[in-house]
Amino acid sequence: MTSIESLRRSPLAPFLHVINGKRQPASDGGTRIVRSPIDGSVLTTCANGTAADAEAAIAAARTAFDDGRWSDLSPAARKQILLRWADLIEASALEIAVLGVRENGTEIGMALKAEPHSAVATIRYYAEAIDKLTGEVAPTDPAFLGLVHRAPVGVVGAIVPWNFPLMIGAWKFGPALAAGCTMVLKPAETASLSLLRVAELALEAGMPAGVFNVVTGEGAIVGAALASSMDVDALVFTGSGPTGRRLMEASARSNLKRVYLELGGKSPNIVFADAPDLDEAAKVSAQGIFRNSGQVCIAGSRILVERSIHTALVEKLAAHAAAIKVGDPLDNATQAGAVNSERQLLQNLAFVDEAKANGRNVIGGARLLQETGGYYMAPAIVADARPEDRVFREEVFGPVVTVTPFDTEAEAIALANDSTYGLAAAVWTSNLSRAHRMVRKIHAGLVHVNTYGGSDLTVPLGGVKQSGNGHDKSLHAFDKYLDLKTAWVKL
Ligand code: NAD
Repeated sequence: MTSIESLRRSPLAPFLHVINGKRQPASDGGTRIVRSPIDGSVLTTCANGTAADAEAAIAAARTAFDDGRWSDLSPAARKQILLRWADLIEASALEIAVLGVRENGTEIGMALKAEPHSAVATIRYYAEAIDKLTGEVAPTDPAFLGLVHRAPVGVVGAIVPWNFPLMIGAWKFGPALAAGCTMVLKPAETASLSLLRVAELALEAGMPAGVFNVVTGEGAIVGAALASSMDVDALVFTGSGPTGRRLMEASARSNLKRVYLELGGKSPNIVFADAPDLDEAAKVSAQGIFRNSGQVCIAGSRILVERSIHTALVEKLAAHAAAIKVGDPLDNATQAGAVNSERQLLQNLAFVDEAKANGRNVIGGARLLQETGGYYMAPAIVADARPEDRVFREEVFGPVVTVTPFDTEAEAIALANDSTYGLAAAVWTSNLSRAHRMVRKIHAGLVHVNTYGGSDLTVPLGGVKQSGNGHDKSLHAFDKYLDLKTAWVKL
């Protein structure tokens, strides 16, 4: 039987784009070295895409959309192919998960669940939904018939980040492909391999050539070509705010394609003195920031705590943080694997150093296991962060949490909303009225009550303010990929 240990050592052939039903090298033959954050070793190479590669993939997706090879299939027929694809991914789940971990460093327990298995569940969810969505007959003057169709928007460009490439990728390609759109997806530079692998499996499942294309390479080249294309009808993105801005500008300068952005966060996690169980709040809050080494868009990175329990919460949080086993992400016992890249690790450590230099009480946060050549760090708690601190205001995207005390509910709300972001939040309280008041008052797309993380596919995920627009997950995700189209018929 294939084991994690044998997969960890298996040599990897060079990875190529998947364009128009074929594995293809970059048009100029360019390749990029793929390095593992586990030990800094070279894993393989990957096609280093050019703008011409992106254009070839867009042209393939355009033709595949316009000739109806996918969009004109009955929804039930698309469903069959998507379900076969999900089965193939499921059958290779361990192989795909280990491939992803070798490239991006996520702990294997989480990677298995959050990557191939989550992608399988997502593809199945949207495949099963698509032949149950209907149009409308409008209640018009009886001399007319008003029909509202749902039509696929066309060619969708998708640009995704490195933290959960398959899960986030599937949140886009699941509903887009089910809706009948065709697609060009650009993975992040440091998390491309598992997406290329699932694109190959789509072909095995019988998805027609040109329907799902994956082009790897640099954001500023391949991603920018998608954003400025006249032939991409909608662009869906998960990543950082600065890139999101560039995509909107490129859309404005080209064909005004719709741009849907899932951006970062600085999510407040508010613990009141009447939290039902302070131990549980501390444990779940530690998981809510430190899993996947803090590389989670909704990570609860700003803990706000009622002053009377500040010391107690920090002590409990520190105990839970210290118990997290950081290390080799392919060891089943590991709870936080490697940081994705050396660049990200150094950024994380710089936040910690700055907080210390400002006189803050920082618990943990050291670089670990440097002798392995990999990128590891201990969870860090800035126990007395102030609202003016950079670490309180900017997204770290690493295992660094701030703790800030407050005195009143109104102050907690003001601190929570004192951010340009609005992705997620949490409130811990036994007071039902307060919980609902907080849900209403906090500016965020997702507010947890007495928990953190773990929401499933049935509920939408999206941000407000500078955390983005539009929603992934749930049936609402179809809104990005299905246009309303009216037929007005004189009878
Ligand atoms: P990033 O913006 O640097 O990169 C994301 C993707 O954009 C990558 O594929 C990259 O190659 C591409 N890209 C970069 N520059 C580009 C350009 N000029 N034109 C087109 N594409 C370009 O972000 P990152 O550092 O890879 O990811 C981390 C960020 O993603 C964090 O801010 C995090 O919060 C956010 N994120 C958000 C969610 C969410 O659901 N809201 C989920 C995960 C991550």
